[in-house]
Amino acid sequence: MLSNSLIELDRAHLVHPVASYRGHEKAGVRVLRSAKGATVTDATGHQMIDGFAGLWCVNVGYGQESIIEAATNQMRELAYATGYFGLGSEPAIRLAAELAERAPGDLDHVYFTLGGSDAVDSTVRFIRYYQQARGKPQKDQFISIESGYHGSSTVGAGLTALPAFHAGFGVPYDWQHKIPSHYAYRNPVGSDTAAIIAASVAALKAKVEAVGGAERVAAFYCEPIQGSGGVLVPPPGWVKAMREVCRELDILFVADEVITGFGRTGPLFASEDEGIVPDLMTTAKGLTSGYVPMGAVFLSDHVYQTIADGAGAAAVGHGYTYSAHPVSAAVGLAVLKLYEGGLLDNGRKMGARLMAGLESLRDHPLVGDVRGRGMLAAIEMVTDKEKKTPLPAAAEPARRVFDRAWDNGLVIRAFANGVLGYAPPLCCTEAEIDAIVERTKLTLDQTLADPAVR
Ligand code: PMP
Repeated sequence: MLSNSLIELDRAHLVHPVASYRGHEKAGVRVLRSAKGATVTDATGHQMIDGFAGLWCVNVGYGQESIIEAATNQMRELAYATGYFGLGSEPAIRLAAELAERAPGDLDHVYFTLGGSDAVDSTVRFIRYYQQARGKPQKDQFISIESGYHGSSTVGAGLTALPAFHAGFGVPYDWQHKIPSHYAYRNPVGSDTAAIIAASVAALKAKVEAVGGAERVAAFYCEPIQGSGGVLVPPPGWVKAMREVCRELDILFVADEVITGFGRTGPLFASEDEGIVPDLMTTAKGLTSGYVPMGAVFLSDHVYQTIADGAGAAAVGHGYTYSAHPVSAAVGLAVLKLYEGGLLDNGRKMGARLMAGLESLRDHPLVGDVRGRGMLAAIEMVTDKEKKTPLPAAAEPARRVFDRAWDNGLVIRAFANGVLGYAPPLCCTEAEIDAIVERTKLTLDQTLADPAVR
């Protein structure tokens, strides 16, 4: 049988991202065969609603003909163009201009990458160069947040604060520091908005002092909503407060919008939710909606101009073969049209419906917390609501819940700590959102009945 031979070939040859290699060999791959809209079909013909949009990236949904046409035409016309040697291509130039027009404030300069990790990596390089160029090379310390995710490149994994990305890899480096997360559900200061903001502001200031003062700190990184850490939504005003501290201390503020960008939380960029303008912003995922790889770093005008003046006639030695790839850029332009042709609006409506639906499950015995914004949400499962007791890790709750949801026709992200993540395509219909909620309820009921996870 085809799928059996694929399972064997996968086991023997394909190394999977972020997996237990031995666990995966044992379990075998689940092959996805096709997808349309918000529905994915596996190799056995089983259909599911993709409640996680692939890896929170297929924001426009699968099988959009305008994107297929844009990519095909671009491949036919000009399959590749380098940006080296002063060359460029029309779609890359147009996409940079369209994005700059829509990005917050003076984030007017766009550097295209292949995804989010190399976008984060690029910011570290740009920021170092910037601090050198303005005569402050000693500003070389970087601060990010516990539970944060900033990619899986060596430098980015050091900014990331999830243990699996550090263990055995020799990161973080000694210039990479962390402050505690705002994680409202389990914050030692409680869930009060003002207390959480005050604690984060104090933690950032204390960390800055601890590493030698503001004259040593280059940048602070945060996600407007922490994604891979379990969809941790900061209280209103938190992002703005942290941005202000950075301005006060002359520390660059980097918003990592790889997940939150492109309509995930409602507006095109989540920074707009609090009306802030980061000094640098990273994006990927929804930029091309996963049809082809691409990421983008947005540089504010003062950062760009300082780097340009600092370099003078010399080349700024940062670039990839596939920077500003014309096919990816053509896809990006087609994706942007879909967002503005109704998908952002639909995403906002469906996001409100999703949040209301998940909220309706709050009384379920396994539901400790429900959180999210727009089409980005999570349920945190507990076995005791009072004590907020996590599901027993030994029972592999994530795998069990993922498997059950799958059988129930729903793909979700089941984090190891018992958090269920949701990031459906923005094209979802009301019926699909309602089905996501119903299938979640069924999955929770089945999990509750499973003696292993109590
Ligand atoms: N930053 C954030 C906030 C992310 O969520 C991710 C990916 N989930 C990345 C960076 C890395 O992006 P990629 O996987 O495209 O390299």
